[in-house]
Amino acid sequence: MAGLTSRKGSCRWVLRHQHKLKQIVRTCHLKVKEVFGLDDYRNYEPDSQETFKSSDLTTKLAEPDQLRLKPDVSDLKFGHIFTDHMLKIFYHQRLDGWQKPVIIPFENISLHPAAKVLHYAIELFEGMKAYRGQDGRIRIFRPDLNMNRMNSSALSSGLPTFYGEELIKCINRLVQVDQEWVPHQEGASLYIRPTLIGIDGTLGVVQSESALLYTILCPVGAYFSGQKEEGVSLLADPSYTRSWPGGCGDQKMGSNYGPTIRVQRQAALRGRQQVLWLYGPEQYLTEVGTMNIFILYTDDNGDKVLATPPLNGLILPGVTRQSIIDLAFQYKDIRVEEKLITMNDVINLRRRDRILEMFGTGTACIICPISTIDYLGDLIHIPTTEQTNPVFKKFRDELYAIQYGYKKHVWGRVIDD
Ligand SMILES: *Cc1c(COP(=O)(O)O)cnc(C)c1O
Repeated sequence: MAGLTSRKGSCRWVLRHQHKLKQIVRTCHLKVKEVFGLDDYRNYEPDSQETFKSSDLTTKLAEPDQLRLKPDVSDLKFGHIFTDHMLKIFYHQRLDGWQKPVIIPFENISLHPAAKVLHYAIELFEGMKAYRGQDGRIRIFRPDLNMNRMNSSALSSGLPTFYGEELIKCINRLVQVDQEWVPHQEGASLYIRPTLIGIDGTLGVVQSESALLYTILCPVGAYFSGQKEEGVSLLADPSYTRSWPGGCGDQKMGSNYGPTIRVQRQAALRGRQQVLWLYGPEQYLTEVGTMNIFILYTDDNGDKVLATPPLNGLILPGVTRQSIIDLAFQYKDIRVEEKLITMNDVINLRRRDRILEMFGTGTACIICPISTIDYLGDLIHIPTTEQTNPVFKKFRDELYAIQYGYKKHVWGRVIDD
């Protein structure tokens, strides 16, 4: 009863202080800019009017004997099995830029041994999913955000930009061609991996005049089974850094991920499943593995706060992250804050038993609860999976309802529209 009253109370408090709260969030952003000396978060606008057109798309279907056996998705390893077709779009500066998009049978790609992608990692990628809805229709989730991010990464890599809507239409067509690969099983989906690489066969760290944009698809199983779930354990070691001010940690570029394998191995050797990436002497929490991080705690006034680090250049602007922020703004009993969180904050909150939940978010697992943090020899216990009605499950259910068409929502885009 007491809990209910205080929730109602805090709800009224939020309504009364709404404008002040918004101001706090803004001030917080300014502070972040001060701390890191950064400009506003990069804008995504492509720098040219050049694009390929989905109306030029042609399709060459695989021969019946080229079609592969569809796997049982119930015990499928992520990213091991691919579908029958792929999308390919070349860019050649000397041939007026973007060429016509083609869908062809899945094949190896052939590259000059000096191709820039192989030497200087001029590469970027995206990750999104197609879901078979309860109504049989296939949906993709907020693809416009992936397209913006892809163009932003392309600008950082000196690779050509394009109109996001045109690529979405080409990808929709590819998913339609391989639609039997979109799993029928509850919770399973088809992972979509758009990739853009610099393919000039010349050494020298200069902009690539030729590029290849391709997209491949792979079926993936359900990430959670509905049974009692255990959270992941993290290694938080301040001696490792994933991204830094003025760097490219906020871009989905291949060069950000190769160097994390060694650290991931360190975590595994200590029996931890993921790396909690910290930054700087203050030990700011930035991300967990390849996911954004959230913490839900009770503040000094007894109000519930859902916090995640702001997009200050160190953080990958996750589509799932943004969606959770958007959803949480509608929850009257939770205050959402994009703010810096230090390891000391976590320790102090934990000491006073204020942490309710911590979780990672990303397209691959959607939401992944956190149970322990191994920090300088101490094991910090996080009670995420012990809450009776955890907020992370509420978010997960809401996203699930949109992705699988139980709830009509603009975020779930039917691909045959
Ligand atoms: C892809 C990615 C995320 C999650 O982004 P989503 O758009 O939600 O899938 C978070 N952090 C890193 C480092 C990533 O590469």
